[in-house]
Amino acid sequence: MRRITVFGSTGSIGVNTLDLLMPGAVDVVALTGGRNIALLAEQARRFNAAIAVTAYEDCLPDLRAALAGTGIAAAAGADAIAEAADRPADWTMSAIVGAAGLVPGLRALRHGGTLALANKESLVTAGPLLMATAAKYGATILPVDSEHSAVFQALVGEDKAAVERVIITASGGPFRQFTLAQMQAITPAQAMAHPNWSMGQRISIDSASMFNKALELIETREFFDFAPDQIEVITHPQSIIHALIGFCDGGIMAHMGPADMRHAIGYALHWPRRGAVPVERLDLARLATLNFEAPDPVRFPALRLARNVMETRGLSGAAFNAAKEIALDHFIAGKLPFLAMAAVIEDTLARLSRENSLQIAATTLDDVLNMDHLARKTATEAVASRQQGS
Ligand code: NDP
Ligand code: MG
Repeated sequence: MRRITVFGSTGSIGVNTLDLLMPGAVDVVALTGGRNIALLAEQARRFNAAIAVTAYEDCLPDLRAALAGTGIAAAAGADAIAEAADRPADWTMSAIVGAAGLVPGLRALRHGGTLALANKESLVTAGPLLMATAAKYGATILPVDSEHSAVFQALVGEDKAAVERVIITASGGPFRQFTLAQMQAITPAQAMAHPNWSMGQRISIDSASMFNKALELIETREFFDFAPDQIEVITHPQSIIHALIGFCDGGIMAHMGPADMRHAIGYALHWPRRGAVPVERLDLARLATLNFEAPDPVRFPALRLARNVMETRGLSGAAFNAAKEIALDHFIAGKLPFLAMAAVIEDTLARLSRENSLQIAATTLDDVLNMDHLARKTATEAVASRQQGS
């Protein structure tokens, strides 16, 4: 039986992943979650997992109580999640949100199996380290982000040297047509309401600010190793085309599908074959129209900041992601306006760049984690100095 581990099983991607698995037909090694203990315990019972791990020590008594009498082991903390990654699995879903997903993913790669990577932050913070670790242990990384799964699928059987450009699509989010003035007053509740996709809270807000697309530009660069100027973003409000590949003969391969993450997860689950996945089939006549427009760089500065990271590389991705996480925390807490998130991130990168610390290659975990820590501290200071100034 296939041994499967799901990191972040209680999240949006995690739930969709388990939805595609049949209890009894897979050997579930480990499931990990955060604060949603009721769901984590229910999942662990349903799949008779060997171990369930919560990220938070204070949740452990509840998890233990919910699993009492099942024989399922329970553990808590970031180290316990990393240790769960040491349990051999053939297929691992990396779906923790944020930089916390990096270490479990890296540890899982050591088994040489398949890592289905939803956690884009791993590639943004430590792309070279992640790819080198996969190569070292003969592991396969399959992208689960819908755009990157689309690029991956459109490249099957193609010669990469014949690719001129890669275009990933963005829905434009809920504020696509907002004026700058309207954007001053955006609340977290408004930013969480994505028009097409049902996702976790943080990625939904990142989609609204286009910081999700910024992360995805960097993710494309790190995973597929195309040059920054080969990678483009186009706003496509229907979210039906997920990515397009332009070839040297002028042809373009577009990947289409419903806005349902189970397609990309299912692709990674069945790869290298294709297997049936219960997602809605597209009705093109009913769709009738697909629209495209260039993203507005003034209202959405995230893409410009990502371009700088793609050029600088080194530890700038780790700094960018950490600053983004801090800015997002403050926006969710109501302590930072929506538009100020980009300013905080830009300010953080500028401060760190003056210290020349962004150029170091992201090849060791220590360097990446140190930069993550430093950028969080710098971003917190940048938020504080804005609050004092205002
Ligand atoms: P969710 O917020 O829905 O879920 C996140 C998961 O991680 C939950 O299981 C959560 O536990 C757990 N978690 C939260 N904080 C920590 C932590 N510090 N340590 C360990 N586990 C933690 O996120 P999504 O499922 O939306 O996204 C997961 C990843 O997939 C992200 O990297 C995202 O960018 C990426 N992705 C998501 C897509 C989507 O459609 N949702 C699309 C493409 C990529 P709990 O909820 O129990 O607290
Ligand atoms: Mg995506």
